Amino acid sequence: MFDLVHLWIIRQLTLGEFSSRRSVLWKAAMMAAKIAAFSYVLNVIAHLLLVAFGLLPYPLGPALVVATMLTPPVSFIVALIAYSVVGLAVYDLGLSRQRFEILSRTDMLSGLINRRAFLDAFEQVRGPVALILFDIDRFKSINDTLGHKAGDDVIVKVAECLTSVSSDSVVVARIGGEEFAALLSGPSTAHMLDVAEAVRHAVEAMNFEVLGRQISVTMSGGVSDGPAELGFSELFSCADRALYLAKASGRNRIVHARQLADLVPDASHRSDEASEPVASLRSA
Ligand code: GH3
Ligand code: MG
Ligand code: MG
Repeated sequence: MFDLVHLWIIRQLTLGEFSSRRSVLWKAAMMAAKIAAFSYVLNVIAHLLLVAFGLLPYPLGPALVVATMLTPPVSFIVALIAYSVVGLAVYDLGLSRQRFEILSRTDMLSGLINRRAFLDAFEQVRGPVALILFDIDRFKSINDTLGHKAGDDVIVKVAECLTSVSSDSVVVARIGGEEFAALLSGPSTAHMLDVAEAVRHAVEAMNFEVLGRQISVTMSGGVSDGPAELGFSELFSCADRALYLAKASGRNRIVHARQLADLVPDASHRSDEASEPVASLRSA
């Protein structure tokens, strides 16, 4: 019995069968009606068995009248209350679970999805995909000169810009401090460089006020593409190296991973020192 109830609660939670409080009460009423009918039938059968064995201490007629008047309403009310109480508790649990799920997949500062949710989105796509990694240029200097709060405001503005420039088919996320990612799949993959450039331009053109000061920022991007079957790590690593190259080549630019092939040997490995150009592009 305990296991059955346990399984029932888990099923309601995972299937999200209770879509609203109203639906809980409606289901409680339906269930209570079934239980009332079942109880009534059992009661009548019990009476008939007692009559058959000569054990009924009073006449069958009045006994059935009393059973008919009492059993259905009493069992209906008891079942309705029990089902509603448990059902509403399960519904509330389901809501908290849903909120927790959303929180665990959302970056609280920018409102974008976080790295974990981005990875999940990647796992769900097949075929051609493009991965764009963006990183705000010289972001540390904003923190250092205007403070951490100003830095946070910039992250929020850039996230808004990223969302407004990207179409609905592009999944955008904040995957680190001042790092963002975009995932394109299917036919839209062909537009990866357009999307990356559009975002870069929009961020560059943005002029906003933070703590009473007008500031503007730029962003660099690294792009890689290929079949999703290559795996996230592989595509991420290529886009990351392209991003490094974008930084090393002067920032505020987009570099595709294929341009790494044109790189002067040995410059494609990321080092901690990204402030000076360590590589030059033969073609951009
Ligand atoms: P580059 O152009 O090479 O990317 O230089 P950068 O200064 O942007 O890069 P760096 O990685 O040196 O600095 C990133 C800084 O971002 C360091 C860290 O303190 C800051 N940071 C990380 N997360 C947050 C955040 O949530 N809010 C704020 N305000 N700062 C953050
Ligand atoms: Mg960074
Ligand atoms: Mg940066």
